[in-house]
Amino acid sequence: MKLPVADGPTLRRHTGVLLRRHRRPLIGVVLLNALSASAGLVGPWLLGRLVDAVGHGADAAYVNRTVAILVVAVLAQTGMVRYAQRSALVLGETVFAELREEFVTTVTRLPLSTVERAGTGDLVARTTTDVDRVQHTVRFGVPRVLVTVVTIVLTVVAALATNVLVAAALFAGAPVLIVVCRWYLRRATPAYLAEGASYATISGAITESVEGARTVDALGLGSRRRARLNRDIGVAFQAEKRTLWLRSVLFPGIDLAFLLPLVAVLAWGAHLVSTGHATIGAVTTIAVYAVQIAQPIGELIFWLDETQVGATSLARIVGVADVSPDREQREARPDDEHVVARGVRYAYREGHDVLHGVDLDLRVGERLAVVGPSGAGKSTLGRMLAGVHPPTGGTVTVGGVPLVDLPLDELRGHVALVTQEHHVFVGTIAENLRLAAVNADEEDLERALRAVDAWDWVEAMPDGLDTVVGSGGAALTPAQAQQVALARLVLLDPHTLVLDEATSLLDPRAARHLERSLSAVLEGRTVVAIAHRLHTAHDADRVAVVDSGRIAEIGSHDELVGAGGEYAALWRSWQSD
Ligand code: ADP
Repeated sequence: MKLPVADGPTLRRHTGVLLRRHRRPLIGVVLLNALSASAGLVGPWLLGRLVDAVGHGADAAYVNRTVAILVVAVLAQTGMVRYAQRSALVLGETVFAELREEFVTTVTRLPLSTVERAGTGDLVARTTTDVDRVQHTVRFGVPRVLVTVVTIVLTVVAALATNVLVAAALFAGAPVLIVVCRWYLRRATPAYLAEGASYATISGAITESVEGARTVDALGLGSRRRARLNRDIGVAFQAEKRTLWLRSVLFPGIDLAFLLPLVAVLAWGAHLVSTGHATIGAVTTIAVYAVQIAQPIGELIFWLDETQVGATSLARIVGVADVSPDREQREARPDDEHVVARGVRYAYREGHDVLHGVDLDLRVGERLAVVGPSGAGKSTLGRMLAGVHPPTGGTVTVGGVPLVDLPLDELRGHVALVTQEHHVFVGTIAENLRLAAVNADEEDLERALRAVDAWDWVEAMPDGLDTVVGSGGAALTPAQAQQVALARLVLLDPHTLVLDEATSLLDPRAARHLERSLSAVLEGRTVVAIAHRLHTAHDADRVAVVDSGRIAEIGSHDELVGAGGEYAALWRSWQSD
């Protein structure tokens, strides 16, 4: 399952909105470019007049005057081109900056469940390859398209004004151009889409291999991963070959279309001169226009090609906004802190339930340990209880309201999930903490850090709370990073916490210290601890044994040991170790 790609109408609507938002600068760019292009048209026109004048016996003074005007026109054009192109580039930069900001906002709001299902590779490809391509198109392509279109239109108008009959020959290349371009454009979009998708697959495969490098090594999957990557590269190669073939028809076709008008103007023009319908000067002017117009047309077509690439990438970027939210906010507000799961089912892939109707009634303030074999569905259940994913069946409610009906920021004030993955964001420690509580003042931050026993080292940092951390800033140890994450929890102040093996990755010394920080956070809250080590289960008020997506047993440690079931067996085998 991939993330959605915007369709044609959506993309056009999006582009339309974007352009309308910049209508004034856009008009400015067009006007400035029209001025500079007009200055460029003066030269051939003067040349044509000169040819006719000399033919009628003009003197040297006339020639000098013409040359002087020509020099002025060239200088004026040089000056105007600078401003015209600058205005176009500024517009391109502005539009791109806006697009990028919109995209970041969309990406950070994506429902986690969708991203996990689609695989991170797809999203990574969109944020890297596709953004790069759109950047190229918008920053350089859009300005050049504006410039060339204005130049082409004005050149044609000037040619028609000079002599309509001769100017008609300018269109001799048009049929070839239209046929070739239509042939190309019709095939380009799917071809470039396929190319983009093949890159996404490659970067997905590489990301997975790198992230799971240890597993790949341990299981000796290296050659399989390489074979898979080779296959993906093969697909990308075929996709590249296809787009190359499209271009290898396009470009020669265009060259032919460029030469035809010049030949036609000269031949048809000569005929018109002989019948007295045109002057040699007019033919000269239009012949020079025919040469001059080739460059902007060529550039326009080049950018049309590039724009195809950019448009398909833009479709992939805009498409991300089409991900439907995985939850709907409702008005109902929980009336207590009681979390209950009823008949909860979940399938990562349709038809493959990993939870088969779990019922769980959390007592407010209790500590529940969840144990069971790996792959039994403990983490999945934890995610359901924390409202990370909407269940595919059944409900998880807090105070009678389904978790997934609550707005995300409110949900986090009720239930939070603590995992081994903790991230330090680039920014100050204070900013890292305020992610959980935007309005927290320095005292709140200090209190939170003290609660997790982290204030001492934060105070000792060069700028205290204002020390910049994350990549490029001060490096935090994994234990410190986890403490910052815990302090965020204190600020968030949820009444229920789901701990997914929160401290098991750390070295034992750090883990003991952290466990103290953690206990401080757990104080007075309902806690679901997904446990790998049975001694943590022993300390809990109740233990739930999860097996094959069901709760097999639930009760206090003593009850379960007394019952002589699965937990009793686990406990006996653990103790005899
Ligand atoms: P536990 O925490 O008990 O080890 P999990 O909840 O992680 O079990 O996994 C339960 C089942 O769901 C396993 O079969 C696992 O392969 C599958 N699973 C877990 N996460 C995903 C995922 N993101 N996509 C697809 N399947 C998953």
